Amino acid sequence: MAHIVVMGAGIGGMPAAYELRERLAREHRITVVGAQSYFQFTPSNPWVAVGWRQRSDIVLPIAPLLERKGIAFVAQAVTAIDAPANRVTLADGQVLDYDYLVVTTGPRLSFDEVPGAGPLSSGGGGHTHSVCTVDHAEAFWADYQQFLQDPGPLVIGAMPGASCFGPAYEFAFIVDADLRRRKLRHKVPMTYVTSEPYIGHLGLGGVGDSKSMLESELRNHDIKWICNAKTTRVEAGRLFTTEVDGLGNVYKEHELPFKLSMMLPAFKGVDAVAAVPGLCNPRGFVLIDEFQRAKAFRNVFSAGVCVAIPPVEATPVATGAPKTGYMIETMVSAIVRNIADDLAGKPATAKATWNAICLADMGDTGAAFVALPQIPPRNVNWFKKGRWVHLAKIAFEKYFLSKMKSGNAEPVYEKYVLKALGIVRLADR
Ligand SMILES: Cc1cc2nc3c(=O)[nH]c(=O)nc-3n(C[C@H](O)[C@H](O)[C@H](O)COP(=O)(O)OP(=O)(O)OC[C@H]3O[C@@H](n4cnc5c(N)ncnc54)[C@H](O)[C@@H]3O)c2cc1C
Repeated sequence: MAHIVVMGAGIGGMPAAYELRERLAREHRITVVGAQSYFQFTPSNPWVAVGWRQRSDIVLPIAPLLERKGIAFVAQAVTAIDAPANRVTLADGQVLDYDYLVVTTGPRLSFDEVPGAGPLSSGGGGHTHSVCTVDHAEAFWADYQQFLQDPGPLVIGAMPGASCFGPAYEFAFIVDADLRRRKLRHKVPMTYVTSEPYIGHLGLGGVGDSKSMLESELRNHDIKWICNAKTTRVEAGRLFTTEVDGLGNVYKEHELPFKLSMMLPAFKGVDAVAAVPGLCNPRGFVLIDEFQRAKAFRNVFSAGVCVAIPPVEATPVATGAPKTGYMIETMVSAIVRNIADDLAGKPATAKATWNAICLADMGDTGAAFVALPQIPPRNVNWFKKGRWVHLAKIAFEKYFLSKMKSGNAEPVYEKYVLKALGIVRLADR
């Protein structure tokens, strides 16, 4: 009998637990350890931030869902991993021994890299908001309601070293749509400030026609932009950013006044994971092989934002490659297959496709990209816009939450519909 501990109960961890339960014999124990007692559907946070969703719409209590499936759940953060001894220590002092550890801890939000940035509640300086967690989104919503009484300039974007750009664009367009509905848009000059070398780069070297399409959308929505932006500090109502040229030399210094700002931070690995000798790269992301297995420890696997992926290309201001939801699920499926094979005494063979599908809402329309595989050169590389994306994003939210409620990690129709589109989770062996 084996004990599998899944660390983190987010977009990667929950499906990992369900899929493990489905595939492994009942004699094997599965325990999920999560820093919070609830699951949050992160992609809906931008909607919470403008009041289009309530917290209760996108958050689920984890314990009853997992326990119903015969999966144990402990609502504690892991504070230390003793990988050579196969043991984790939790915040309340409990110790859990494991045979396999699945690390799906997502990002540590690295607000402290830019003085003054980020919510105070997450160790930031308090001058910019984030939508990375539902708590952050609710904090934006609280300030946004005051902002609506006395609107002014809005700065939205992504900090140096960020890897998650889709939600930054998405949020700019959502706020734009919300302000237009309220007939307040004319009082709000908006600037999109990004470390990307050009609009639509997305940390991916662009996808299809993302550059010209997103530039055109920003122009049509009266949103100015600054690319190659190395934001250096934020003070109350002022964001300081250095725009560099293609060689990284200073092109222009900007001091942008704002009434409200949302800047996505750079990500790092969480402390407990980053602290394990040999497990991670210098930013605390888990170094894995082609089978999602930690290079340093044969019984540790990892999926999601916490894995190390090299940047797609060097950029004048640092950017990282995004790890999107479906891509994460492909990693999870590979891990489950490889643990099952290991238990059966067979070598690991399953490789995730890392196919990236992303839907970005724009309020009443939306933009979607498919990058197969995520890292170029690609077999499929398209970026499209339309109202169908807005509707698809709503459907994605309902669908993922219902999947988390039912505990069926890859329902049959997902498997076959996506397969018909050429999108599969595991690479041909
Ligand atoms: C605002 C936003 C919008 C996004 N929108 C989309 C989208 O529309 N489509 C898409 O494909 N992707 C989207 N993404 C990207 C990606 O899908 C999400 O970031 C996703 O949540 C990543 O999943 P994860 O499992 O790696 O991390 P998370 O979902 O963040 O889960 C990590 C979990 O680990 C827990 N944890 C952390 N440390 C510990 C510890 N020490 N012990 C125990 N538990 C711990 C955390 O509490 C959390 O529950 C978005 C990302 C952001 C930030």
